[in-house]
Amino acid sequence: MEIIIGRESTSPLSIGGRLHILTSNKKDYYLGLEGSVPKSVSRQHCKIIIKTDGSMELINLKPTNITYINGIEVIRKTISKSDRIELGGGHFVLDLNSVLDTVKTEIPQSYDISHLKAVWEKYQQTKIEIQVKQSKSAAVQSVTGLLSMASIACGFVPGVPDIIRGVLYGIAIILAVVFFIYRMRHAGENVLQLKELDDQFHKDYVCPNPDCGRFLGVTPYDDLKKQTKSCPVCKAVYEVKE
Ligand SMILES: [Zn+2]
Repeated sequence: MEIIIGRESTSPLSIGGRLHILTSNKKDYYLGLEGSVPKSVSRQHCKIIIKTDGSMELINLKPTNITYINGIEVIRKTISKSDRIELGGGHFVLDLNSVLDTVKTEIPQSYDISHLKAVWEKYQQTKIEIQVKQSKSAAVQSVTGLLSMASIACGFVPGVPDIIRGVLYGIAIILAVVFFIYRMRHAGENVLQLKELDDQFHKDYVCPNPDCGRFLGVTPYDDLKKQTKSCPVCKAVYEVKE
Protein backbone atom coordinates (compact mmCIF):
# COMPACT_ATOMS: atom_id res chain seq x y z
CA MET A 1 0.00 0.00 0.00
CA GLU A 2 1.10 3.55 -0.71
CA ILE A 3 0.47 6.87 0.95
CA ILE A 4 1.06 10.32 -0.49
CA ILE A 5 2.02 12.97 2.02
CA GLY A 6 1.68 16.70 1.49
CA ARG A 7 0.10 19.91 2.66
CA GLU A 8 -3.65 20.33 2.47
CA SER A 9 -5.08 22.70 -0.12
CA THR A 10 -5.58 26.16 1.38
CA SER A 11 -6.21 29.73 0.23
CA PRO A 12 -3.20 31.68 -1.17
CA LEU A 13 -3.38 34.02 1.84
CA SER A 14 -2.96 31.32 4.50
CA ILE A 15 0.42 30.59 6.04
CA GLY A 16 0.01 26.84 5.55
CA GLY A 17 -2.31 23.94 6.15
CA ARG A 18 -2.66 20.67 7.95
CA LEU A 19 -0.77 17.58 6.90
CA HIS A 20 -2.68 15.69 4.20
CA ILE A 21 -2.34 11.93 3.76
CA LEU A 22 -3.88 10.24 0.73
CA THR A 23 -3.82 6.44 0.78
CA SER A 24 -3.85 4.09 -2.22
CA ASN A 25 -7.41 3.17 -1.13
CA LYS A 26 -8.29 6.82 -2.00
CA LYS A 27 -8.90 7.81 1.61
CA ASP A 28 -7.90 11.23 2.93
CA TYR A 29 -6.63 11.99 6.41
CA TYR A 30 -5.62 15.33 7.91
CA LEU A 31 -3.19 15.67 10.81
CA GLY A 32 -2.13 18.59 12.98
CA LEU A 33 -3.47 22.08 13.45
CA GLU A 34 -4.51 24.61 10.81
CA GLY A 35 -1.40 26.23 9.38
CA SER A 36 0.97 23.76 11.06
CA VAL A 37 2.48 22.61 7.75
CA PRO A 38 4.35 25.45 5.98
CA LYS A 39 4.06 26.21 2.29
CA SER A 40 7.58 24.90 1.68
CA VAL A 41 5.90 21.49 1.88
CA SER A 42 4.30 20.71 -1.47
CA ARG A 43 0.70 19.50 -1.92
CA GLN A 44 2.03 16.11 -3.01
CA HIS A 45 5.43 16.07 -1.42
CA CYS A 46 6.50 12.47 -0.98
CA LYS A 47 5.21 8.96 -1.22
CA ILE A 48 5.76 6.15 1.28
CA ILE A 49 5.36 2.55 0.13
CA ILE A 50 4.46 0.26 3.03
CA LYS A 51 5.02 -3.44 2.39
CA THR A 52 3.21 -6.30 4.14
CA ASP A 53 6.36 -7.22 6.04
CA GLY A 54 6.36 -3.72 7.54
CA SER A 55 9.31 -2.39 5.52
CA MET A 56 8.93 1.09 4.03
CA GLU A 57 10.35 3.11 1.18
CA LEU A 58 10.11 6.87 0.78
CA ILE A 59 10.09 8.58 -2.62
CA ASN A 60 10.40 12.34 -3.09
CA LEU A 61 7.70 13.12 -5.67
CA LYS A 62 8.99 16.17 -7.57
CA PRO A 63 12.49 17.56 -8.24
CA THR A 64 11.36 20.85 -6.70
CA ASN A 65 10.40 19.13 -3.44
CA ILE A 66 13.05 18.65 -0.78
CA THR A 67 12.98 15.67 1.56
CA TYR A 68 15.58 14.99 4.25
CA ILE A 69 16.12 11.71 6.04
CA ASN A 70 18.36 12.04 9.09
CA GLY A 71 19.55 15.37 7.72
CA ILE A 72 20.49 14.12 4.25
CA GLU A 73 18.51 15.10 1.17
CA VAL A 74 17.09 12.03 -0.59
CA ILE A 75 15.11 11.13 -3.68
CA ARG A 76 14.32 7.56 -2.81
CA LYS A 77 15.27 5.62 0.31
CA THR A 78 14.30 2.71 2.51
CA ILE A 79 13.16 4.11 5.85
CA SER A 80 12.37 2.84 9.32
CA LYS A 81 10.15 4.19 12.09
CA SER A 82 13.10 5.69 13.92
CA ASP A 83 14.31 7.83 10.98
CA ARG A 84 13.93 11.61 11.22
CA ILE A 85 12.05 12.81 8.15
CA GLU A 86 11.93 16.51 7.28
CA LEU A 87 9.98 18.04 4.41
CA GLY A 88 10.72 21.23 2.48
CA GLY A 89 13.28 23.99 2.86
CA GLY A 90 11.67 24.88 6.21
CA HIS A 91 12.59 21.43 7.59
CA PHE A 92 9.05 20.54 8.64
CA VAL A 93 9.41 17.41 10.81
CA LEU A 94 7.11 14.61 9.73
CA ASP A 95 5.84 12.55 12.67
CA LEU A 96 6.08 9.18 10.89
CA ASN A 97 4.68 7.22 13.84
CA SER A 98 1.47 9.23 13.99
CA VAL A 99 1.15 8.98 10.19
CA LEU A 100 1.48 5.17 10.41
CA ASP A 101 -0.93 5.07 13.30
CA THR A 102 -3.47 7.00 11.25
CA VAL A 103 -3.38 4.62 8.30
CA LYS A 104 -2.73 1.37 10.18
CA THR A 105 -6.19 -0.12 9.55
CA GLU A 106 -5.53 0.16 5.81
CA ILE A 107 -2.16 -1.56 5.83
CA PRO A 108 -2.71 -5.13 4.62
CA GLN A 109 -1.50 -7.76 7.09
CA SER A 110 0.18 -10.96 6.01
CA TYR A 111 -0.79 -14.32 7.46
CA ASP A 112 0.76 -17.76 7.29
CA ILE A 113 -1.56 -20.33 5.70
CA SER A 114 0.65 -23.43 6.05
CA HIS A 115 -1.56 -24.86 8.86
CA LEU A 116 -4.37 -25.21 6.29
CA LYS A 117 -2.47 -28.07 4.63
CA ALA A 118 -3.31 -30.39 7.57
CA VAL A 119 -6.93 -29.15 7.65
CA TRP A 120 -7.39 -29.98 3.96
CA GLU A 121 -5.69 -33.38 4.21
CA LYS A 122 -7.71 -34.43 7.27
CA TYR A 123 -10.94 -33.40 5.54
CA GLN A 124 -10.14 -35.45 2.45
CA GLN A 125 -8.99 -38.48 4.44
CA THR A 126 -12.01 -38.54 6.77
CA LYS A 127 -14.38 -38.17 3.83
CA ILE A 128 -12.80 -41.18 2.12
CA GLU A 129 -12.99 -43.22 5.36
CA ILE A 130 -16.72 -42.49 5.69
CA GLN A 131 -17.31 -43.46 2.06
CA VAL A 132 -15.35 -46.72 2.46
CA LYS A 133 -17.40 -47.58 5.57
CA GLN A 134 -20.56 -46.90 3.58
CA SER A 135 -19.60 -49.25 0.75
CA LYS A 136 -18.39 -51.95 3.17
CA SER A 137 -21.72 -52.08 4.97
CA ALA A 138 -23.50 -52.21 1.60
CA ALA A 139 -21.32 -55.21 0.64
CA VAL A 140 -22.12 -57.06 3.89
CA GLN A 141 -25.82 -56.46 3.40
CA SER A 142 -25.74 -57.98 -0.08
CA VAL A 143 -24.95 -61.35 1.59
CA THR A 144 -28.67 -61.62 2.45
CA GLY A 145 -29.57 -61.49 -1.21
CA LEU A 146 -26.91 -64.06 -2.12
CA LEU A 147 -28.16 -66.54 0.49
CA SER A 148 -31.78 -66.35 -0.57
CA MET A 149 -30.73 -66.77 -4.21
CA ALA A 150 -28.63 -69.77 -3.23
CA SER A 151 -31.57 -71.38 -1.44
CA ILE A 152 -33.82 -70.84 -4.47
CA ALA A 153 -31.13 -72.30 -6.74
CA CYS A 154 -30.94 -75.39 -4.49
CA GLY A 155 -34.58 -76.04 -5.25
CA PHE A 156 -33.72 -76.69 -8.90
CA VAL A 157 -30.82 -79.01 -8.22
CA PRO A 158 -31.97 -82.59 -7.91
CA GLY A 159 -30.80 -84.40 -4.82
CA VAL A 160 -30.40 -81.34 -2.54
CA PRO A 161 -32.18 -82.26 0.62
CA ASP A 162 -35.10 -80.07 1.67
CA ILE A 163 -33.41 -79.56 5.00
CA ILE A 164 -30.46 -77.65 3.41
CA ARG A 165 -32.81 -75.45 1.40
CA GLY A 166 -34.78 -74.77 4.55
CA VAL A 167 -31.62 -73.89 6.49
CA LEU A 168 -30.44 -71.48 3.75
CA TYR A 169 -33.85 -69.82 3.65
CA GLY A 170 -33.82 -69.59 7.40
CA ILE A 171 -30.38 -67.97 7.52
CA ALA A 172 -31.34 -65.53 4.74
CA ILE A 173 -34.49 -64.48 6.61
CA ILE A 174 -32.63 -64.07 9.93
CA LEU A 175 -29.87 -62.02 8.24
CA ALA A 176 -32.46 -59.89 6.43
CA VAL A 177 -34.14 -59.14 9.78
CA VAL A 178 -30.76 -58.43 11.46
CA PHE A 179 -29.68 -56.08 8.67
CA PHE A 180 -33.08 -54.41 8.65
CA ILE A 181 -32.78 -53.63 12.39
CA TYR A 182 -29.15 -52.54 11.91
CA ARG A 183 -30.12 -50.22 9.07
CA MET A 184 -32.99 -48.71 11.04
CA ARG A 185 -30.72 -48.02 14.00
CA HIS A 186 -27.85 -46.60 11.97
CA ALA A 187 -29.94 -44.86 9.31
CA GLY A 188 -28.44 -41.54 8.45
CA GLU A 189 -25.31 -42.11 10.54
CA ASN A 190 -22.94 -41.69 7.59
CA VAL A 191 -24.96 -38.76 6.27
CA LEU A 192 -24.70 -37.13 9.70
CA GLN A 193 -20.96 -37.82 9.92
CA LEU A 194 -20.44 -36.25 6.50
CA LYS A 195 -22.46 -33.22 7.52
CA GLU A 196 -20.48 -32.81 10.75
CA LEU A 197 -17.24 -33.15 8.80
CA ASP A 198 -18.38 -30.48 6.33
CA ASP A 199 -19.45 -28.14 9.12
CA GLN A 200 -16.09 -28.47 10.87
CA PHE A 201 -14.28 -27.94 7.57
CA HIS A 202 -16.24 -24.73 6.99
CA LYS A 203 -15.05 -23.53 10.41
CA ASP A 204 -11.39 -24.50 9.96
CA TYR A 205 -10.63 -23.87 6.28
CA VAL A 206 -10.93 -20.10 6.51
CA CYS A 207 -8.97 -16.89 6.01
CA PRO A 208 -6.41 -16.78 8.87
CA ASN A 209 -7.18 -13.14 9.66
CA PRO A 210 -9.21 -13.45 12.91
CA ASP A 211 -11.27 -10.41 11.92
CA CYS A 212 -12.26 -12.04 8.64
CA GLY A 213 -12.60 -15.84 8.75
CA ARG A 214 -13.96 -16.12 5.20
CA PHE A 215 -14.45 -19.77 4.13
CA LEU A 216 -11.86 -20.55 1.45
CA GLY A 217 -14.13 -22.95 -0.45
CA VAL A 218 -13.44 -26.51 -1.53
CA THR A 219 -10.14 -25.48 -3.10
CA PRO A 220 -7.35 -28.03 -2.61
CA TYR A 221 -4.55 -26.66 -0.44
CA ASP A 222 -1.96 -26.91 -3.23
CA ASP A 223 -4.13 -24.78 -5.54
CA LEU A 224 -4.78 -22.32 -2.74
CA LYS A 225 -1.05 -22.01 -2.13
CA LYS A 226 -0.34 -21.39 -5.82
CA GLN A 227 -3.29 -19.21 -6.86
CA THR A 228 -4.67 -17.34 -3.86
CA LYS A 229 -2.24 -14.61 -2.91
CA SER A 230 -4.59 -12.55 -0.80
CA CYS A 231 -8.08 -12.46 0.68
CA PRO A 232 -10.60 -10.70 -1.60
CA VAL A 233 -12.60 -9.65 1.47
CA CYS A 234 -10.09 -8.38 4.05
CA LYS A 235 -7.09 -7.97 1.66
CA ALA A 236 -4.87 -10.02 4.00
CA VAL A 237 -1.81 -11.29 2.18
CA TYR A 238 -1.28 -15.05 2.35
CA GLU A 239 2.17 -16.45 3.01
CA VAL A 240 3.46 -20.00 3.20
CA LYS A 241 6.06 -20.55 5.92
CA GLU A 242 7.02 -24.18 5.49
ZN1 LIG B 1 -9.89 -12.45 4.84
